[in-house]
Amino acid sequence: MSNSSSQSFVVIGAGHAGGRAVEAMRANGFEGAIHLIGAEQMVPYERPPLSKEMLVDSGVDCPPMHPAEFYTDKDITLHLGVTATDIDGDIRVVKNSDGTQLSYDQLLLCGGGQVRHLAVPGAELANIHTLRTIGDSNAIETLLVPGNSIVIIGGGFIGLEVASAAKSRGCTVTVIEAADRLMGRALPLEIGETFAALHRHHNVDIRLNTGVERFTGDTAVREVITTSGDSVPADGVIVGIGVDPGVTLAQTGNLEVNNGVVVDEFCRTSDPYIYAAGDVTFHFNPLLGRHVRLESWQNAQNQAIAAAANMCGANTVFAEIPWFWSDQFGVNLQMSGAPDVWDDIAIRGNLSGRDGILFQLNEGKLVGAISLNRPRDMRFIKRLMTAGKSPSRDALIDEAITFRELLK
Ligand SMILES: Cc1cc2nc3c(=O)[nH]c(=O)nc-3n(C[C@H](O)[C@H](O)[C@H](O)COP(=O)(O)OP(=O)(O)OC[C@H]3O[C@@H](n4cnc5c(N)ncnc54)[C@H](O)[C@@H]3O)c2cc1C
Repeated sequence: MSNSSSQSFVVIGAGHAGGRAVEAMRANGFEGAIHLIGAEQMVPYERPPLSKEMLVDSGVDCPPMHPAEFYTDKDITLHLGVTATDIDGDIRVVKNSDGTQLSYDQLLLCGGGQVRHLAVPGAELANIHTLRTIGDSNAIETLLVPGNSIVIIGGGFIGLEVASAAKSRGCTVTVIEAADRLMGRALPLEIGETFAALHRHHNVDIRLNTGVERFTGDTAVREVITTSGDSVPADGVIVGIGVDPGVTLAQTGNLEVNNGVVVDEFCRTSDPYIYAAGDVTFHFNPLLGRHVRLESWQNAQNQAIAAAANMCGANTVFAEIPWFWSDQFGVNLQMSGAPDVWDDIAIRGNLSGRDGILFQLNEGKLVGAISLNRPRDMRFIKRLMTAGKSPSRDALIDEAITFRELLK
């Protein structure tokens, strides 16, 4: 990028998207100042291990995305343990919790999401945790002692990954889910039922249609009282009831907000000098033809890279089929697409045997796929969907036809 050395880019949020963005800014030739502001004390890291490897095995650390020297070498100024509190878009200044102010030529918001907490009596007791940071994961790991009773509130991806890890560490595990199915926010009933069977097979006590009335205990939690009136013993509780996009800061800058910071396919907000990427965005996806908010590794990584390129003068459209994975009890789940409606499903293989793929179709068009233990197939299915190809229902379910063939 020419003539960039006198400019300043500020990135708010030193998580997955923020870490990839600053790297991409330098890779795109930006020579000016880069400031990365992060509320956590850590240099950027990726979060998937927090609910997987770090809990399944003891003594596993979460590696940083880059060593600390990377930021020195690339002349990226870190402001860690600092929260950006205010954006003044008129004079292009960010105000921070440590009293500093940073001027920017262009600003990138990567503040991610904020975990929801349960507002019930006893929620302040010790050993009740949410899971978003390395610190959360470390605190949860200390509770995963053989024989301990662990209660998970929320049967979504994170709760179920913790359930799987806790079981593998010899805990007694109960999952309390308010809805009538697991992972119902993101996945069809058939997948929720398959995973309920998987967890029950491993002696996880799954309680659907159940909420939390209160937590009891002296200083630490001892018991969860459910809305059905049951008492579930608890040495530890993990609350995994979702994430809200962190939009408060964007609102100080009068940016358009609607289920996240609204951005277009170029990652631009309603202010021409401000971009956003990652979990915080409600972004237009040209392949889907609508705005979506995603909480996924792929989106955090690649949207951040696209936003950084555009801040450096490119005109990159960010357009990818959404993709997500989860690992529970040795079963690898992957999903492609983020359909809000479908009128038909087709199944290849054997879901209950945890070796198959469920396709979601709408008016005959392939709009989503969820695979169990078929990562290789999923690579081709993602490519099929990106290319807008929609094989026939018969072809999708025929094991004799490979996805490589369907891609031709
Ligand atoms: C436990 C866990 C497991 C996951 N597993 C998977 C998985 O298996 N597969 C998958 O696809 N995805 C997974 N995800 C989702 C994925 O990690 C997220 O989508 C990704 O981290 C989003 O990146 P982000 O940069 O947008 O947000 P984050 O990584 O959350 O980073 C945002 C950062 O901004 C900071 N911040 C916020 N506001 C401010 C402010 N005002 N000032 C300064 N700093 C601020 C926050 O403290 C945070 O450090 C998982 C997430 C978690 C928590």
